[in-house]
Amino acid sequence: MLEPVPGVFMLERTWGSNIYIIGVDDPVLIDAGFPLDERRIIRSLEGAVPSLMVATHYHIDHVGPLASLKRKFGSPVAAHSADAEVMEGTVPCRVFKLDPLRTVYYKMLAPLYRYEFVPVEIKLEEGDIIDALGGLEVICLPGHTDGSVALYQRERGILFSGDTLRNEKGILDGPPPQFSPGLDEAFEHIKAKVLPLEIDVLLPGHGEPLVGGASAGIRSMLDEKGRL
Ligand SMILES: [Zn+2]
Ligand SMILES: [Zn+2]
Repeated sequence: MLEPVPGVFMLERTWGSNIYIIGVDDPVLIDAGFPLDERRIIRSLEGAVPSLMVATHYHIDHVGPLASLKRKFGSPVAAHSADAEVMEGTVPCRVFKLDPLRTVYYKMLAPLYRYEFVPVEIKLEEGDIIDALGGLEVICLPGHTDGSVALYQRERGILFSGDTLRNEKGILDGPPPQFSPGLDEAFEHIKAKVLPLEIDVLLPGHGEPLVGGASAGIRSMLDEKGRL
C-alpha cells in the first residue's frame, strides 16, 4: 500500500478506482472499488475490522464489494442520503447514454459489474463530521451524482474528492463528462465550495494523489477550463 500522507493508506493495483484506508486499528474505509477489489481490501486490512465504510457516491466502481464486506465485517456504511437510496435499491440509478461499442463492452463484462444493494446506516449531510483522521467534514458536491460528497480534513488540508475531482495521468480534471448528468453543476460546486478551502493534498477517486499545493492546481484547472 501507498501512504500518500501519514495515516492514510491507498491500495495499489485496484480495478480502476481509488480505495483509501484511514488508520490501522479501527480503520475507516473510503470507497471500496469494483466488486473484484474485495480480496485486496480484506488483505490490506490485515485482520482489522473497519469501524466505518464510507462511499463518496453510489457508482459501482466505488461501492462494488460493500454488501459483501458488510456481511463479513458488519461495519456500518455511510453515504449521502441521495445516493444511499440508490445503494439501498429504493431508487433506480441513472442510465447513461453510451455509444454502441461501449454498451457491448459493458454487457460482456456485466458479471464483473453486478450491483449489489447494501443498507446505508449513516446518511451523510453537509457539515457532518466523520470520526477519522481527526475529523473529516462532509462537503456535498452534487453533479457527478446527486449525492456525491468530498471529505475534508481542515487542519491538515486533505481532501478526499471522490469522482468530483480526478487526477488521471497527471491531469487534474472535474468529473468524467459521460458519467456526470450534472457536469456544470459539479463545476459550480467545485468553484463555490472546494476552491475556498485550503487544500494541500488531494486524494481523488481516480488517478494519483496530488501531494502539496493542491488548491493552486484546482484553481488553474478551473481557469483553463473557463470555469472560474
Ligand atoms: Zn463515479
Ligand atoms: Zn469512479
